Amino acid sequence: MEILKVEHLVKQYGKGDNAVLAVNDISFSVEQGEFVAIVGSSGSGKSTLLHLLGGVDRPTSGKVYIQGEDIYSLNSDKIAIFRRRQVGLIYQFYNLIPILNVKENITLPCDGRTPDKSELDELINTLGLKDRVTHLPNELSGGQQQRVSIGRALINHPAILLADEPTGNLDSRSSDEIVELLKLSNQKYKQTIVMITHNLEIAKIADRILRIEDGRLV
Ligand code: ADP
Repeated sequence: MEILKVEHLVKQYGKGDNAVLAVNDISFSVEQGEFVAIVGSSGSGKSTLLHLLGGVDRPTSGKVYIQGEDIYSLNSDKIAIFRRRQVGLIYQFYNLIPILNVKENITLPCDGRTPDKSELDELINTLGLKDRVTHLPNELSGGQQQRVSIGRALINHPAILLADEPTGNLDSRSSDEIVELLKLSNQKYKQTIVMITHNLEIAKIADRILRIEDGRLV
C-alpha cells in the first residue's frame, strides 16, 4: 500500500532575480513499511522537501498525499491536526520542550489522551530510557535526547516518520544507536520512514536511497 505520494512538487523561495527553486518538480512514492533515505549535498533541497512531505510548509505547486489524503487541500488548522496525528518528525537538534521531562516530552503529541501504559513502558524500554523518565532534556546526553524525540515521533503510530539529519549532531557511537533504533522501529512496528542524511554510510541502512541535486531527484 502506498503511504506517501508526491506529485510534481515545487517550492520556490523569493522572486525575480532572487528566486530559488529549492524543490523543482519532484515526484515519487513510498510504500507502507519502506525505509527511504534521501541524500544530497548541503543546499540541494533536502530539508525543504522533508518539510513539504510533513505538512510543515506549503508547496508553490504540486501535491502530497499521505494515506490518500491530499494534505495541502486542507486548511492550516486541519493540516496541523493531521500532522500531529499522522506524521512523526525527528530533527537534528531534537526540538524537545526544555521544561518537560522525558515521559512528558514523549507523550506530548497525545493531546491530553493517556497512552496505553504497557505500550508506553515498552516504548520507553526499547528506547533505553527506563531510568531517565523524570529527567529534563538538559540532564540527558545528545543521543538520549534524540531517543526521546524518536519516542515522541512514534507514540501516535504515525503513518510516516520523517527524520531530518537525525544523527547530524551526534558522535559516531550515538549515531549508530539512533540508526539502529530507527531500523528497529521500521522492522518491529513496520514503521514507514523517510530520512534525510548527507552521510552515505547511514543511508545504506535504508531499503531505498533517493538522491537530490539542485532541487531535483537524480
Ligand atoms: P538542504 O537541506 O539540502 O541543505 P535546503 O532545503 O535547506 O537544502 O535549501 C535548498 C535551497 O533553498 C538552498 O539554496 C537554500 O539557500 C534555499 N532556501 C532554503 N530555505 C530558504 C528560505 N526560507 N528562503 C530562501 N531560500 C531558502
